Amino acid sequence: MVIVGAGQGGLQLAESLRSEGWTGPIRLFGEEPYAPYNRPPLSKAVLCGDQSADHLTIRGPDFFAKKAIELSTGTRVTAIDRAAREVVLADGGRVAYEGLALATGSRARTLPLPGADLDGIMVLRTLDDAEALCRRMAEARAIAVVGGGFIGLEVAASARKFDREVTLIEALPRLMARAVSPAISDWYADLHTRRGVRLLLSTGVTGFAGVDGRVTGVETSAGPIAADLVIVGVGVIPDDALARACGLDCDRGVIVDDFSRTSDPTIVALGDCTARRLPDGTLRRLESVQNAVEQAKSGAARLMGKERPFTATPWFWSDQYDVKLQMAGLSAGADTSVTLGSPEEARFSLLHWRDGRFVGCDSINRPADHMAARKLLDRGTDLTAAEAADPAFDLAARARAG
Ligand SMILES: Cc1cc2nc3c(=O)[nH]c(=O)nc-3n(C[C@H](O)[C@H](O)[C@H](O)COP(=O)(O)OP(=O)(O)OC[C@H]3O[C@@H](n4cnc5c(N)ncnc54)[C@H](O)[C@@H]3O)c2cc1C
Repeated sequence: MVIVGAGQGGLQLAESLRSEGWTGPIRLFGEEPYAPYNRPPLSKAVLCGDQSADHLTIRGPDFFAKKAIELSTGTRVTAIDRAAREVVLADGGRVAYEGLALATGSRARTLPLPGADLDGIMVLRTLDDAEALCRRMAEARAIAVVGGGFIGLEVAASARKFDREVTLIEALPRLMARAVSPAISDWYADLHTRRGVRLLLSTGVTGFAGVDGRVTGVETSAGPIAADLVIVGVGVIPDDALARACGLDCDRGVIVDDFSRTSDPTIVALGDCTARRLPDGTLRRLESVQNAVEQAKSGAARLMGKERPFTATPWFWSDQYDVKLQMAGLSAGADTSVTLGSPEEARFSLLHWRDGRFVGCDSINRPADHMAARKLLDRGTDLTAAEAADPAFDLAARARAG
């Protein structure tokens, strides 16, 4: 079995192949010079200085030896020869496969604008990016963050911890617009403003200014913003180049089904590089640890000729300052919401319905609500808004009851 991409999903697939009973060789190829590591702390504890980068590794060297997983770091796969069932390595070497998994992840999107190549304009995707950003943040005076999604907001919160002047520029009228409801966006706008971030919503970036090759500011539709460090957090591009080049079906990612199958029966794909049709009929990329891990489990089963569909409710989390946001389900387009708890005390959840169906829950510092909502959503329970709006309603008890 050959796995391309030694990240969160690639490692899980290797582990799952062993637990599914595969006793043959497993080769795991990763382009980065590191063993698989956790990315979520890169924009959170690592940037804040609360966690050292040495503690990100998911499994130690003993694990790979014990499970007989041959990990090759610093090794890029450059092509897939489907006819010969071989992958081609950057040094020209060829490795035969019986089953192949693509877990190539995604790359940070950049802005093709005037001045975008100035020194001091950075993205955050890898451990190397995070270490470079930590060094730059220590020296910076004024930081501009482009993008009010999870990464941009987590970076802004980390930068405020070091008392840096932070301006966050978002093109849309609200924060995290693709993932959370307007009420949660507003709550976060207030939180960041209170913590000293200057928020510019509905503001487009048109270019970057610099002196002697170093960035000095961001040009925006609201005027120029001075900054000696700019972090661009405007989403990711799926790394589906290998798949496209060998003729697999792709549409903004390698297209897979609930079993992680691609259009070639010997190849599965998983994680950030994939797009999957969800129950609402939309083809979506879900860029999350849960998605990579669950698709990897399904993919490993598939390579062993078994069926283990990934149909669990999507979930995600984000840590900003001392606030934990957890999201269960996909609540975009919700038409009815019920609040549990207290937004003023920063402990509340919003439950969401669309066309009378319970579709999601956004929780702020209420992890028990998040767990209960996931259970209900997984079971497809017909919880109604009227029931949840009753002052005596207990979400955890409802989840226990089924
Ligand atoms: C800063 C940051 C914060 C995040 N925070 C959260 C969070 O709070 N919660 C959450 O759920 N998710 C979070 N995520 C997203 C999560 O980390 C990803 O969804 C997850 O890592 C996806 O796993 P993956 O295996 O698909 O890709 P990755 O973990 O990105 O691994 C892909 C690997 O494949 C390698 N590769 C690519 N092409 C090749 C090739 N041709 N040959 C060899 N190797 C190759 C890449 O170098 C990379 O190492 C965060 C991501 C980032 C960057």
